[in-house]
Order: sequence, then structure tokens, then C-alpha cells
Amino acid sequence: MRMITFFLIGLTVHVVFFLSIFDIYFTSPLVHGMMPQSTPLAPPASRLVLVVADGLRADSLFTLLPNGSSRTPYLRSIIEDTGTWGVSHTRVPTESRPGHVALIAGFYEDVSAVAKGWKENPVEFDSVFNESRHTWCWGSPDILPMFAKGASGDHVYTHTYPAQEEDFASTDASRLDTWVFTQVKSFFQSAKSNSTLKASLLEDKNVFFLHLLGIDTNGHAHRPMSQEYLDNIALVDTGVAELVSMVEDFFGNDGRTAYVFTADHGMTNWGSHGAGHPSETLTPLVVWGAGVHNAQKVTEPQPYNDGYLQDWKLEHLRRVDVNQADIAPLMASLIGVPIPVNSVGVLPLLYLNNSGQFKAESMYTNAIQVLEQFKISLCQSLISYSLEGLVYYHTYDRFFLGCSVVLGFVGWTSYVVLVILKTHAKVTVLQIMVPAVTLNQE
Ligand SMILES: [Zn+2]
Repeated sequence: MRMITFFLIGLTVHVVFFLSIFDIYFTSPLVHGMMPQSTPLAPPASRLVLVVADGLRADSLFTLLPNGSSRTPYLRSIIEDTGTWGVSHTRVPTESRPGHVALIAGFYEDVSAVAKGWKENPVEFDSVFNESRHTWCWGSPDILPMFAKGASGDHVYTHTYPAQEEDFASTDASRLDTWVFTQVKSFFQSAKSNSTLKASLLEDKNVFFLHLLGIDTNGHAHRPMSQEYLDNIALVDTGVAELVSMVEDFFGNDGRTAYVFTADHGMTNWGSHGAGHPSETLTPLVVWGAGVHNAQKVTEPQPYNDGYLQDWKLEHLRRVDVNQADIAPLMASLIGVPIPVNSVGVLPLLYLNNSGQFKAESMYTNAIQVLEQFKISLCQSLISYSLEGLVYYHTYDRFFLGCSVVLGFVGWTSYVVLVILKTHAKVTVLQIMVPAVTLNQE
């Protein structure tokens, strides 16, 4: 009986000492993120079509031919009549991945991501695609997967040509774009006879994203002044015109589709990009459809003195420049989804054709969404101070507790030794006891 009690006490002592390690050394680093913000009013568009012409310079799209006509008659007609246009200013590095992240997620990626080749997610991030109900994407396997991977749930669908088969375009890179347009066409064709797909397409908050890599590839191979680069732009213009008429036809001309046409970055005259030359950082932006302002004729000089308006013969049409990340809140506002939580974009109001109340609510949402991040950044400095405090809190008693554990063990061991001596060396105990008895008698 005594041995069982002794064993149980010994076990308890060891369990307590073992658990003390977790209490002293391990703490959880979990911190929670921002709340997605959206405008409570009904959005003007049910769906959005985003077309990104990879590597398309602003001047390559906007400059007229020597005879005064445009090589992109369809997009020019949008600029002059039904849409709003401007220059989207990108940031360095002018590479595909950070460009698309700025457009679709609304923030400028950390330059350290370049070490990962701009393909792998350094961190998971929110995007307009992630906030959408469904997003269907067509294009390069270098760009699309990162948005599907970053999305929560299974609602971003990618259609890419296999990377090893990009060779099909080695003689003519514009085939990459023809591939995309053809795929989109057959997608909408098949949706007519596929009731499940059709039902999804008819829902709101949907995005269709076309990533067109041909212009970039032709620019690298032949430079932006080449006939290949310029012909590819014309091919894209025709493709967009057909796309729009097909989409409008599919949705019965319901006037609920918004369109955004832009580029991720430009390109130098030598066919390179990555740095901060205007040929690399100035990209075109053309927006039209549901919720977007028609072309606004202006008579006064516009607040841009870079000379481009004269070069492009567009002095008479209101130009609205944006920072690349502003396109994310613009797209979110058009289809009424929350602005991506990491976005630093500012909603470019002049693109919106909507009530004052809608604009005010949208700006309020934008402000709160950025404020959430500011609160987070304030919290971050609070966190770093708190962490210092926590380190102190978690470790100030480490020495004391360590000593206690050691002393406890020493005490326990001594006690065990004493018990062993008591049990197995009775003679010694008796010899010690005798003088004590003698003393008492005196
Ligand atoms: Zn690119």
C-alpha cells in the first residue's frame, strides 16, 4: 500500500514537471485579418469581363496610323463614344505577376517575390476573383493558377494551354490570343446546351478573365515597333469586338455586363520590361458597359501636360488616369463584390455612371476598407510592442521556474534516497535514534 502511494506521487511529480515545459515555452502566434467591405447598394453590373493584353504599351494602343485611322477601330470607337479611358500607371518591377496582382488584388507586391520568379504565391491573398461568385479564366499557365490557388473554395476556374505546348505559337505568338478567343467562344457555345453551366452564368457577381500573352511574346521576339507586335494588337481588337457581341448575345443584351480592357505592363523599344521607363509603366485602360460613363467631350485643356493627348489625338475626350491598383476597387464596385482586403486602390469615381448616393457609398466602403488595413498596421506596431512585453511576460519567471524544477527534482531525489535508506538500512536509523531517546530521558 505504501509502495503504491509512493509510486503515484512519483508519477504525478513527473507529469507536472513535464507539463510545465509547455506552459513556460510554447505560445500561439495567431492574429486575425480584416473584414471584407462592400457597398450595400445594388451594383450596376451583374458580370464583368476583364481583358488583359500582356505587355501592351499605352501609346501602341492609342496612337493613330499615319493616315489618321486606328489599328484598333473597335476600342477606338469605345474611347470616342461609349466608354471612359485613361492611362493606368504601373509600378516597378514592370513584370506580369506584380502587374496582375495590382490589377486583380489591388496591392503592389513585395519586391522580394521576384526571387520566386513571380509565379509562386509568397503569401495567400484576396482578389476580385476570390470575392466573385464565379470567375472563369483563359490564358497562360504562368498567370492564371496563382489566382485560383489564392482563392478560397472552388469558384475560380482556369483554362490554360499546357506550358510545354506553348510552342504551338513559336512561329506566331498571336496564336496564343486566338487560342483564348476560340476557347471562350466554345465555352459560351457549350453553355447554351449545358443547363447547369448556363444557370451559373446567369447569376450575378461573375467575372470572365481573358489573359492575352501574344502581344508580350511578340514584343520580346520582334520589339514593339515590329509588324508582328502591331498586327497582334489589331487581332486583339477584332477578338474583343467579337467577344463583346457574343457575350451581349448570350445574355440577351440585358445591359448588365461591364468591360475592362488594360495591360499588366508596357515594354521598352528594345522589347524588355521590368524597369520604370514610361514605355514600361504606362498602360492603356478602357472601361465600358454597365455602370460606366460614356465618353465625355471636353473643351477646356485637360489636367495632363505630358503631351500624350496631342500625340494620340484625344484632347477632346476626357482622360481619367489611374494607378494600377485602383482598377481592383473599380471592378469590385461595378459588380458589387467586397473590395479585396489587401487593396490599396482608390476607386476612380470618374469612371462610374451612377447616382451620387452610390458613389458616396462606394467611396465610404473604399475608405473603411483601407482604414481596416490602417487599423491593422496600427495594430502591427501595437503587436510588436506587445510581443516585447509578451516575451518578458513569458520568460521573466523562466529562471525561477527552472530553479524550482531543478530544486524540486533534487528534493524529490533526496526524498527517494532517504526512503530507500529508511527501508533497507534499519540498523543505521536505530543507531541514530538511540542518543535521541537518551537525551529525552535526561
Ligand atoms: Zn506581362
